[in-house]
Amino acid sequence: MKLYNWGKYPFSDANLHLADSYSTVGSTLNQLSGQAVIPRGNGRCYGDSALQENVCSTLKLNKLLQLDEVSGTIRLQAGVLLEDLLSVLVPKGLFLPVVPGTRLITIGGAIAANVHGKNHHHAGAFGNHVQSFKLLTADGQLLLCSRTKNETLFKNTIGGMGTTGIVLEATLLLSKIETTYYQQKSYLATSLSHLFELFEQHHAQPYLVAWMDGLAAGNQLGRGVLHTGKPCTRQDLASQTMPNPLKVHPPAKLSIPGIVPSWLLQPIVLRLNNLYYRWSNRKSVQHIKHYASFFFPLDAIKHWNNLYGKRGLLQYQFVLPFSSSTDGITAVLEAIKASRLCPYLVVLKRMGEHTPYAATDFPMPGYSLAIDFKYSSKVLDLFHLLDEIVIQHSGRIYLTKDARLPAAAFQKMYPEAVLHSPHIFRSLQSERLFDL
Ligand SMILES: Cc1cc2nc3c(=O)[nH]c(=O)nc-3n(C[C@H](O)[C@H](O)[C@H](O)COP(=O)(O)OP(=O)(O)OC[C@H]3O[C@@H](n4cnc5c(N)ncnc54)[C@H](O)[C@@H]3O)c2cc1C
Repeated sequence: MKLYNWGKYPFSDANLHLADSYSTVGSTLNQLSGQAVIPRGNGRCYGDSALQENVCSTLKLNKLLQLDEVSGTIRLQAGVLLEDLLSVLVPKGLFLPVVPGTRLITIGGAIAANVHGKNHHHAGAFGNHVQSFKLLTADGQLLLCSRTKNETLFKNTIGGMGTTGIVLEATLLLSKIETTYYQQKSYLATSLSHLFELFEQHHAQPYLVAWMDGLAAGNQLGRGVLHTGKPCTRQDLASQTMPNPLKVHPPAKLSIPGIVPSWLLQPIVLRLNNLYYRWSNRKSVQHIKHYASFFFPLDAIKHWNNLYGKRGLLQYQFVLPFSSSTDGITAVLEAIKASRLCPYLVVLKRMGEHTPYAATDFPMPGYSLAIDFKYSSKVLDLFHLLDEIVIQHSGRIYLTKDARLPAAAFQKMYPEAVLHSPHIFRSLQSERLFDL
């Protein structure tokens, strides 16, 4: 079947093996007798990290195995979606300490990419809250991995992009919540340096993320809106009319059909949208937001990637150390401006201290910028230029968003990276990055 991930570029003709028990995963590996295969969660990576001729889907390994409300831990299968897990945890006053910008990913995908949210500066990445997992390795062993057992495999799997084996189940640490609501405040920034100042000023807030106006130029380059957030207590909700302080997310009601009119993504529409976004956030008022719109605003519209048309979208997400963030991000924004290509969604996050797990683990202390473009060959050319800027400023790009990074640039960004089981667990991405 034709298989692609969220960006719809590239695709592969793949044999999709749907595993519904640990033994079927084992027998699939046996049947493949040494052919390359890659584990797959919900295909929410953007490029080719979960593509290969043989793909092993974990979506049917979706059982919750053991919830311990006292210690705040859960043991569950790797194909469970965050969305389904939260529906069970939330009514009990429990949550995940780290969530990315979509709840439509699996536990296995969260571990393999070591995903981060807007609280990386406070809570680190997803892997920090993984107690242990069971991994099926290339030689058919099912190994329990933790910080004290099979430590190297534990480390290499978190952020390892599916190349060490297939995570079949995991035990996660949970956090306690009083309510499912968050207080969000927004601050308008007139330039990139202003945005950085705001980030530093509000650093004590547990959640920080900024929207950036990718069309701004000159001394307004990098202008945007910083959103800060913190959890609401029951007391904070006392004056509100919230019938259920532990309300679960509602299902998405809107959906973008397969074919959408191309004018929707015209630069003028984006310009108007950016103006409106800045205008609607011009006052720093506090809003109470449910976690669905606070953490996962994009999940409100199913298949929003269809907006980018049949050829799909490409995202460029990179991180730079604090010391080179101003120069590096300015250079990236100027290169985009000079290309005359249209950056649709631009999001800036601040990352905190990070002890890397796998050699391909993405986070580092500094600033991370993610930029969405409609697919075109010109965008691919621009990305080569951006790679050079990122390398010059000692940064790296996020592999779970990547669809095209050349091997030479990858080796400069991730100099310690090695492929752990090159003959079995490898994606189209790892073949490209390791020049296989
Ligand atoms: C709208 C949107 C917003 C996003 N926001 C963020 C964000 O804020 N922060 C962030 O960090 N990421 C973000 N992402 C990226 C997303 O969280 C990651 O790509 C995640 O890995 C996808 O999980 P998945 O279950 O869909 O895995 P897939 O996309 O299917 O696979 C991703 C990788 O995980 C590996 N993998 C999957 N399951 C297993 C398993 N059981 N065992 C071993 N390896 C496995 C695959 O081989 C592949 O390398 C976002 C993505 C989207 C679409």
